[in-house]
Amino acid sequence: MKTNSQDSNDTSQGLWITALGAAINIALSLIKILVGWTGHSRALIADGFHSLSDLATDVVVALGLFYGSRPYDADHPYGHKKIETLAEFTTGVLLLAFAVWMVVSSAQALTGRITEAPSLLVPLIAAVSVVSKEWLYRRTIVLANRLQSEAMVANAWHHRSDALTSVVALVAVGLAQISPSLRLLDPVAGIGISILVGKIGFDVAYKGMHRIIDTAPDPQIIERIRQVTIGNEQVRGLHKLRARYLGRQIIADLHIQVDPSLSVQEGHTIASQVEQAISAELGNVYDITVHVEPLYAPQENRT
Ligand SMILES: [Zn+2]
Ligand SMILES: [Zn+2]
Repeated sequence: MKTNSQDSNDTSQGLWITALGAAINIALSLIKILVGWTGHSRALIADGFHSLSDLATDVVVALGLFYGSRPYDADHPYGHKKIETLAEFTTGVLLLAFAVWMVVSSAQALTGRITEAPSLLVPLIAAVSVVSKEWLYRRTIVLANRLQSEAMVANAWHHRSDALTSVVALVAVGLAQISPSLRLLDPVAGIGISILVGKIGFDVAYKGMHRIIDTAPDPQIIERIRQVTIGNEQVRGLHKLRARYLGRQIIADLHIQVDPSLSVQEGHTIASQVEQAISAELGNVYDITVHVEPLYAPQENRT
């Protein structure tokens, strides 16, 4: 399967938005930590460190897309797409690690005493963070869906969780200007959002792990491969059907049984027809390998 030009154009746009996300993350995290520190806002400092954790995620996703889109070579005859799966898994683990860290730091803020009110610059920076992060989410999720990239979907949701975290910081520091007794709302909401982020991270890491250890695709996908194969009139039997994911694409191999009196050329033609039919049915196929063998009792094994 060759990567077509539309796919490579989407891949370069995917790299571009991931790099832009990383640049915005660096700027935002440094500004938020600085303003949070000088403006006496724990919420903004925590939000800033959250953005720093994004940077690691962005780098991992960009590396995954870059190395994963490389063609196969002598060292990696199955291509490099598992690098993207590894990046996806790592992104999920990072999200999960952030969630645990955020719950701990919010609990510490709840039990600690907060004495100073945040400066007026703090809600302004939080508002800038909300707007820019929401824009990054919308831009990334469109490309992620077009590329069918789980790693980019994870990254997009990370941008939105950032926007939500900044909304919490914005509301908390805004209310803190009104009344000191309302400052405890900040760590409470921080724990809630951290649990949401942790759930997203767990799901992404779990799915990535299953693809790394070659878990079979959904039974419906296996059934579609089976139906397309026995849909070929020349195929008398089918067994040893296996499939797994290579990055976001499917790789499958199967044995078909045909009339023993057919020539090698005819048998090969049937195998190629089956390979093409499966590719056309599923769309996101990396490779299909069909092994041909003779079946002497006609039609007995078709169902
Ligand atoms: Zn066999
Ligand atoms: Zn062939």
